[in-house]
Amino acid sequence: MTRTAERTEKAERRTPKGTRLGYGMRLPEYLSVISVLSALSVSCKENSRPPQEFDGPGALGYIQTQVAFGPRIPGTEAHRRMGDWLDSLLRQRADTVIVQSWNHLTARGDTLPLRNFIARFNPTAEKRLLLLAHWDSRPTADSPRSRDSTQPVQGANDGGSGVAVLLGVADVLKRTPSGVGVDLLFVDGEDYGDFTKDTADVLMGSRYYGAHQLPGPRPLYAVLFDLVADKDLQIYQEGNSLVGAPEVVELVWDAAKDLGYGGYFIASPRHTLIDDHIQLQKAGIRAIDVVDFDYPAWHTPDDTIDKVSSASLQIVGDVAMALVRREQ
Ligand SMILES: [Zn+2]
Repeated sequence: MTRTAERTEKAERRTPKGTRLGYGMRLPEYLSVISVLSALSVSCKENSRPPQEFDGPGALGYIQTQVAFGPRIPGTEAHRRMGDWLDSLLRQRADTVIVQSWNHLTARGDTLPLRNFIARFNPTAEKRLLLLAHWDSRPTADSPRSRDSTQPVQGANDGGSGVAVLLGVADVLKRTPSGVGVDLLFVDGEDYGDFTKDTADVLMGSRYYGAHQLPGPRPLYAVLFDLVADKDLQIYQEGNSLVGAPEVVELVWDAAKDLGYGGYFIASPRHTLIDDHIQLQKAGIRAIDVVDFDYPAWHTPDDTIDKVSSASLQIVGDVAMALVRREQ
């Protein structure tokens, strides 16, 4: 994924850090928050929210497993092993798993074996949602900010986080099936080439999916999750999503606000990005990108497990589940 235009200075911080529970609080402040929360839990017992279905710490475990494979670069053993792991996990959770396999010939003449995995829940339902993420990681840490562009990207956040959210959703749907049909699409080869030069060697899985859509009803809409586990989570509305499917952006940011996550899902535009949602939009699907592009470790060797958090995965996972539950 890349941005379509350079931005200038980072915008002013939108949300005072002090409003985020657990961040930057001194002990007395923390204790007073706890006492307020306990009082609330006593007084609001009758209409308290249901327990969170999505397991943030479990999702963080899914990032740890992915990073442990090593960089998931198409054509490598780590990539093949990660794909096999994903395949087996999905078969234990979904009603149906469809694998799209093909070979891609790159601009440099290499042949890459690529796979998209589609985990289908309630596959006969007419009304369906599509949630997607890329599962490959980038061969080179070639951001201008990178301290070493000869290294690969570990992809804890870039690749790892979207997969973790989707696997967390799969766990919930296995436990508590949904009336609405849900397809979880794990696309391959998003991040392989140079976005400015080798445009055929990026977004490969989403392009393939767009050209080989599943038979049956189209999803109502699609949500792409990319870079969603930064400890400093701030998800702005993305420009191409606002142009291509503004009503889906509104629906997702409203769902976040209803959950009390308005400080993390910030209802204003910021970056405009080329990402997998573009390929789905081209294929006629109302697709948007949920992405936190304010991530200093993006495309550097520092996109590592210490930069991501279960708290951020919890927030994004809760929003994903709210989208599913509001349709059933
Ligand atoms: Zn990337």
